[in-house]
Amino acid sequence: MTEALSRSDIDKLQQLSCHELMEKALATKLERRGKAISLCAIINAKSGKCSEDCRFCTQSAHFQTDSPVYPLLSTEHIVAAARQAKEDGASHFSIVSSGKGIEKNSLTQIASLIKTIRKEVDTKVCASLGLGTKEDFLALKKAGLSRYHHNLETSKEFFPQVVSTHTFAERLSTIKAAQKAGLEVCAGGIIGLGESENDRISMAISLAQAGVDSVPLNILIPLPDTPMQDSKPLQITEILRTIALFRLILPDVPLRLAAGRETVLGDFLSSAFMAGADGMMIGGYLTQKGRSPEMDRQFVNEIQKLWTNV
Ligand code: SF4
Repeated sequence: MTEALSRSDIDKLQQLSCHELMEKALATKLERRGKAISLCAIINAKSGKCSEDCRFCTQSAHFQTDSPVYPLLSTEHIVAAARQAKEDGASHFSIVSSGKGIEKNSLTQIASLIKTIRKEVDTKVCASLGLGTKEDFLALKKAGLSRYHHNLETSKEFFPQVVSTHTFAERLSTIKAAQKAGLEVCAGGIIGLGESENDRISMAISLAQAGVDSVPLNILIPLPDTPMQDSKPLQITEILRTIALFRLILPDVPLRLAAGRETVLGDFLSSAFMAGADGMMIGGYLTQKGRSPEMDRQFVNEIQKLWTNV
């Protein structure tokens, strides 16, 4: 680990053009992390009816959407998805459930699910179950969980514009509790919610200060019937600048592109990997389909060839 960038270092970076930032970020990626690209996959194991009001999310019970609603899927279904993810090349498989936090009555069920996946599939298991305590995380770790996923979503300053039913501080304390229980943490957020570049930088600094192990970056897909449905899409240069700044502020962590990488970046997906990204979620997202794993495998091969010739 090198020393964290100071605010004045970051101010100087912000003066650079998109192209200059990308050049620096790619050099940092290759120097610090080599040519590795990490792939992960998730399953929306329990969907909808969420008490929270995250304004981008179709699973919130505060908005009338046609997003699927179902209780925890069967163990067979989830284990089969973990096996498929492994075959598709994912190193980590995450169980995601909607809701504010880890429900005490489902903790035993999730722990037993994790044990079964670990027994039947050679994969690292992650979970994203909302707010939790150190005791919850100790139980999940004992069952075989490697990593807990809990996004900050946006900057501390902008967070109240996005969610009113829980706080940024609660999210940070969940991350700390997972770390205290000995779990790795995957945490990132969503860009394109109406925040500024300074907000994106503030989120990256919070993630660096929290010492997270993996950073997923989502780009808002404005979904119908959510309060964000008419959000103005980010420019491609704003997205590439953000990825490059994240890489420079977080030089040592996998920086994974998640929702929005196909739909919003489109033709510019490879440019994101020239801006310092080095991971992807494959096989689809919580409520949105992704592209085929075969296309992603070819894409990864081509990017690694490009990096060889940088
Ligand atoms: S993002 Fe998570 S916590 Fe927020 S409304 Fe959606 S399911 Fe609930």
